[in-house]
Amino acid sequence: MDFPSSLTIRYWGVRGSVPCPLHAQDIKNKEIALIQKIIANGGTEKLFGSNPDPEAIKTYLEQLPISMSGTYGGDTTCIEIQAPNSPLIIIDAGTGLRALGRMLLGRLLSGQNLNPLNTTEHAQLDLHLFFTHYHWDHIQGFPFFAPAFVPGKRKVTVHFYGKRDARVELSEVLRGQQQSPNFPVVWDDMPCEKEYLELKRLNPQALKLGELTVQYQELTHPDFVFAYRFECNGKAFVCATDTEHKDTTDPRLMKLAENADVLYYDSQYMPEEYRGAAGTLTGAMTKFDWGHSTYEWAIRSALAAKVKTVVLGHHEPLRDDFQLEQLYERARNFAQTQLSLPENKGKELQVLIAYQGMEHHL
Ligand SMILES: [Zn+2]
Ligand SMILES: [Zn+2]
Repeated sequence: MDFPSSLTIRYWGVRGSVPCPLHAQDIKNKEIALIQKIIANGGTEKLFGSNPDPEAIKTYLEQLPISMSGTYGGDTTCIEIQAPNSPLIIIDAGTGLRALGRMLLGRLLSGQNLNPLNTTEHAQLDLHLFFTHYHWDHIQGFPFFAPAFVPGKRKVTVHFYGKRDARVELSEVLRGQQQSPNFPVVWDDMPCEKEYLELKRLNPQALKLGELTVQYQELTHPDFVFAYRFECNGKAFVCATDTEHKDTTDPRLMKLAENADVLYYDSQYMPEEYRGAAGTLTGAMTKFDWGHSTYEWAIRSALAAKVKTVVLGHHEPLRDDFQLEQLYERARNFAQTQLSLPENKGKELQVLIAYQGMEHHL
């Protein structure tokens, strides 16, 4: 790696609520759009010649919208964070954790450090897994996390973080989802070492993990949720998934996200879906109190907290890749409108939409 990052962030799952693999019709819709695009660009002969080089095709595909060339992904929340000389950080164990686990297994079995940016001997086999909350889409990947099954000398230690004073203890939440008859391997038979740290909900204290500082804050969601801020060498990433804004920016998030480089924010609904307007994708039912938010509040929050980049995530499972791009276009237009308001004079904001495999190097 030739980029001297303070923080490397990789998204392994950005879907909300429930995993949603692509269906055959989704693939067909992509194929139709791609073929139409190739024809509009002059056809394959003009684009690639009579003996196409796979690299040239790859380059062509990479500049197309993701709706035609790939997918935003159907795995639920999982984000990997690497910081120099710190243990590897994971936010949430949604189904994205399965693919992250396979990659980490490769690092583990080839004798590498789990965090490539950690050049110290310390915490090479340690993983720190921060749960935002315990809803299914944020925990269900853990039973399929391959590194947790490695015994012996390359056994990993997983440090689990979650909220204190929840209705069920963190260890019981994880143990519970693997109880017979729900899963064939019970919790205590997974060879990894397990450490639990429940974080108090009031007066949260910052944690120091190697060169990384972790701060958190409880936000609005059914059963409550933690948002986290990870900071190293003056670079900050804030994850605020599964949170709802009603009619004002949340002062707790404003404090946590102030001047952050990147804010990942719950943008599950279009504004009219949140209101429950008739004829929308998610049905004529208000989403008030369901615990999720919109791109409008993502952008308003990012501007109010003077964030540099806001990333729209926790995508609605009903929304296909083409519809996600419509949401993204509306979000960018909304950001332009907001930036022209007097209170945002002089501010800048980059708006991105999350996809599986997306990375930041801060
Ligand atoms: Zn969720
Ligand atoms: Zn939730």
